[in-house]
Amino acid sequence: MTTTTANLGFPRIGAHRELKRAVEEYWNGDRSKEELLAEGADLRERHWRKQDELGLDFVPSNDFSYYDQVLDTCAMVGAVPDRFPWDGDTVDIDTYFSMARGIQEKDLEGDTSGVQAMEMTKWFNTNYHYLVPELSRDTEFSLSSTKIIDEYEEAKGMGIDTRPVLIGPVSFLLLGKTQSEDLNSLDLLEELLPVYTEALQRLADTGAQAVQIDEPALVFELDNEEQVAYTEAYEVLNNATDLDIHLATYFESLGDNLPTALDLPVDSLHLDLVRGEGQLDDALEYGVPSELSLSLGLVDGRNIWRADLDTLLETVETAIDALGSDRVILGPSCSLLHVPTDLDAEPGLDDNTKLWFSFATGKIEEIVALADRTNGDKTGTEALFERSRQAIKNRAESDWINDSDVQERVDGIDDAMTRRDSNRDVRREIQREAFDLPELPTTTIGSFPQTDEMREMRAAYKNEEISQSKYEAFIETQITETIERQEEIGLDVLVHGESERGDMVEYFGRQLDGFIFTENAWVQSYGTRCVRPPIIAGDVSRPEPMTVRWLSYADEQTDELVKGMLTGPVTILQWSFVRDDQTRAETCRQISLAIRDEVRDLEDAGIQAIQIDEPAFREGLPLRESQWAEYLEWAVECFRLASCGVADETQIHTHMCYAEFTDIIDAIVDMDADVISIEASRSKMELLGSFDELDYPNDIGPGVYDIHSPQIPSIEEMEDLIYNGLDVLDEDQMWVNPDCGLKTRRWVEVEPSLKNMVKAAESVRES
Ligand code: GLN
Ligand code: ZN
Repeated sequence: MTTTTANLGFPRIGAHRELKRAVEEYWNGDRSKEELLAEGADLRERHWRKQDELGLDFVPSNDFSYYDQVLDTCAMVGAVPDRFPWDGDTVDIDTYFSMARGIQEKDLEGDTSGVQAMEMTKWFNTNYHYLVPELSRDTEFSLSSTKIIDEYEEAKGMGIDTRPVLIGPVSFLLLGKTQSEDLNSLDLLEELLPVYTEALQRLADTGAQAVQIDEPALVFELDNEEQVAYTEAYEVLNNATDLDIHLATYFESLGDNLPTALDLPVDSLHLDLVRGEGQLDDALEYGVPSELSLSLGLVDGRNIWRADLDTLLETVETAIDALGSDRVILGPSCSLLHVPTDLDAEPGLDDNTKLWFSFATGKIEEIVALADRTNGDKTGTEALFERSRQAIKNRAESDWINDSDVQERVDGIDDAMTRRDSNRDVRREIQREAFDLPELPTTTIGSFPQTDEMREMRAAYKNEEISQSKYEAFIETQITETIERQEEIGLDVLVHGESERGDMVEYFGRQLDGFIFTENAWVQSYGTRCVRPPIIAGDVSRPEPMTVRWLSYADEQTDELVKGMLTGPVTILQWSFVRDDQTRAETCRQISLAIRDEVRDLEDAGIQAIQIDEPAFREGLPLRESQWAEYLEWAVECFRLASCGVADETQIHTHMCYAEFTDIIDAIVDMDADVISIEASRSKMELLGSFDELDYPNDIGPGVYDIHSPQIPSIEEMEDLIYNGLDVLDEDQMWVNPDCGLKTRRWVEVEPSLKNMVKAAESVRES
């Protein structure tokens, strides 16, 4: 009787982003289809062999993807929207990529419209993005890709009997979007199931023993109908095949769905014990049916810390005591897609720091060691257990991590620090008098077009190829130019343009103590786009001012009002790997204090308007609505900590770039920024409804210029949007600005667009 190990998915992009390069070169015509497919096969082989060598019992297959696993599922079931041309038989790789990226019909004379890509959205509360299945009554499901079968056979040919992974039918439908209001996606379940049945039967025919079916939608708050859909679906699938079905859930606890999940006719149920900490006890208490095994999601699949093996072993023992060792499977909390591949790719980190971390391969070693230890191998596993203990001790004692000044400061936070001196009405009057801005003041969100020259100069400076003075002189010329252009355009509140910043989190992280940066720790964000999140490893503090030099310089170049630009604490937290030895709230408070100091220094340097960007504020929301209030409380507190240290005459701006506010509007009011700019142009200002209902008390700049498109918006178009805004907002409350920063655009688009925006504001003012 032994305990087995399983991985739910391995990072597919390659330790050096080989897949990104191969796919992009294929798109550009620099690699043939054969070369692309060969690279894919090569990565799969490497990843399978590695996991197999590490001693993992269930190595996954079909976790590989050329773009996205949900898109793979669309291909598998033939959910190809009508606008994409295909033969209705098999979805080939070009059809597949066109669904992800759309089709540009540049070649067709006079027609530049093309075919729109499928919509992309965030995968639960991760920074991974998936393509949203489009479902309609006309969707005709049929097995249209044999990828899952092919990859199983491919691995088998190498002597590795894998456990294929696929996204389950209920999650697939719940994550999809129906094209008509009256169609509930679950209405399509009955038609979808035969395709799954066929895929499973074909897998069994090729010799597969087991399959992993991911049903992450089981962590949502489901209604009765949705729970019933689960029961029905798995009865069908279970009856259709002899394959062992391992059902995987992750990212949260199952909550009210736990009984439904435990009673499904499957062979094992995977529980995320990192995000859903207490649910092993809940499951044991409810009662695990005798024919069901539990798969324990022990090692954090979403973070990079070395696991606490002794503590995890206790959890394993609890499960074994209740179920017996052969009914317990050990694994990561979720697919390892969300962590970097290999710590060996980080020669820049010293051994001591490396001790703290564990990337994908390290996590598999940890899982295998836990199982081996459980199965009686003490000597062989002791070294890894010892390293785990050392890492914990070392982190607890490290002077680099632990800064008592920071901890004391956080302990000393009091309510007064999160309140401005006067209320919003008083501040508004004071600021109005101080600034003398026109009605409907015009401004931008911060960044202006980033050029190759900027990127080259930043890189050259970082690599010490050019001197500090040369670099600084370069940035100054960029600022001067940007200010001049804004004066010429006629904007009311100017910005310095952010030319010194490559990334809005990295720029600050590099200047703060407590952050670690990696060279190759890439994580897939979507398709071929990867990010390298900073690691917040220690107590955060700010040794020196971070932006004052550039903002002061900008301020000296003009008589107009200059707005300083900072990234907010919640966004910095949200876009980093965060330490696991204290709460997120605690870490966020530390960052907030550092930003607070920067805000005050900017104020001291004469900057009268300061914007604290929080584009990731909404993404921090927990998956379950019942936990929102707790998050919003500390997130709002952190924003206020960062922003409330200034006098009434200093105007605090914030920016969020999405258009969903209704459900968090109270929190946004509580943030108490003097001005908030938001994305609004695409929704034609519809979202302002929620601000209206509430009688939003502060100033708002709903975006009137869609910066995601290269198109130059006309004066009339933007006038209309301003009038739409004024239907809801008072004229002395509204600002005029683009939806977001302009760094991805070119000056040839930006200049005329902003000129039109200024003219639109002027013409509305005069009418
Ligand atoms: N100030 C940032 C910019 O203009 C804001 C970016 C963002 O909202 N994501 O680029
Ligand atoms: Zn934005």
